[in-house]
Amino acid sequence: MNAGSNNMEVRKVNKNRAFRYICRKERVSKPEIASALGVSVPTVLQLVNLLEEENLVLEAGECDSKGGRKARAVRPNWDAAYAVGLDITKNHIGLIYTNLSKQVLEHIRIYKTFRDTEDYYKEVTDTLKAFVREHKIPEDRITGVGISIPGIVDGKNNRIERSHVLNLYDVSCERFAKYLPYPAILINDANAAGRTEIDSERSSHNLIYLSLSNSVGGSVIMGDIYSGDHWRSGEFGHMIVAEQGGMCYCGKRGCFDVCCSALRLAGLAEGKLENFFQGLEDGNVLYQSAWEEYLSYLATMVENLHMVLDCDIILGGYVGGFMGPYLSDFQGRIAGNNIFGNTGAYVKTCKYQYEAAALGAALFFIEQFMREI
Ligand SMILES: [Zn+2]
Repeated sequence: MNAGSNNMEVRKVNKNRAFRYICRKERVSKPEIASALGVSVPTVLQLVNLLEEENLVLEAGECDSKGGRKARAVRPNWDAAYAVGLDITKNHIGLIYTNLSKQVLEHIRIYKTFRDTEDYYKEVTDTLKAFVREHKIPEDRITGVGISIPGIVDGKNNRIERSHVLNLYDVSCERFAKYLPYPAILINDANAAGRTEIDSERSSHNLIYLSLSNSVGGSVIMGDIYSGDHWRSGEFGHMIVAEQGGMCYCGKRGCFDVCCSALRLAGLAEGKLENFFQGLEDGNVLYQSAWEEYLSYLATMVENLHMVLDCDIILGGYVGGFMGPYLSDFQGRIAGNNIFGNTGAYVKTCKYQYEAAALGAALFFIEQFMREI
């Protein structure tokens, strides 16, 4: 590599670092960027000029200052790029859109039973297009649609290897995206949801995401999503937690999926999980006993996973969204059983309940856009 191309490469890396720093701080002065990145102020001026030319960074008035000339602040243009997330489950579709802020800007969840038919894919596309129109998302800035799927997804070939829930085997993304006017990728639902829990403030992102929804799975994130050799990592649902437990569709007894599916709780409350937790709060004895059993299986799984990977464990999915009021007791239960004297603080609740998988799928395109800056 010659010196010229080397300099260009360094400038590109620094431009990317500057942009990510501005995004983290949300509003920041140029001298502060220079200090944080360890480069000179003139270099930062050049980098910010480039970012402004590309409409990625905007002026943001003057910074507070104790005497002397006030430094001018800049802020990220969150709306420089958008992405849409589509979560497909057996009986619903969820849609969200996000921008460079990586926040859910709007979301909808509607009842729609999955069918592997042209009509279904057309209807879903029409719903997505209406969502884009309704929220006036600039179409030319939509970088893509991330599609979250309950199943094993071959990320290299952008295809579903198998989905028991949707009864699909060896299906490419093309079938879902045939009518979409945007690029699309498939992503496993738990991996997508796990992605939303990565804390951009931390340098290392090691975590396990447990997806406690109607089917149970998870995601292993070691810096990035760890997919395994065959895209099957994090299939915690088929680890056995009750030797004499109920029969799982996989043919084994006592799988975590059988013991800790959200359906197990919702099934006691006319299929509505929120009714279950309301009843639990109101002192329903049957619910209390079911909840106690549920938590004992969950504790077994959480402790086993922590023994293997020694990292934060996020309780996510539909049940995870209701776990907040019970978290402290659950941490205490786990702390009592740990030979290393952990407090149980490594167990946390998820940031999002229903929108997580759709947001995480959309973040694939946002991250891709950020990488290319
Ligand atoms: Zn199983």
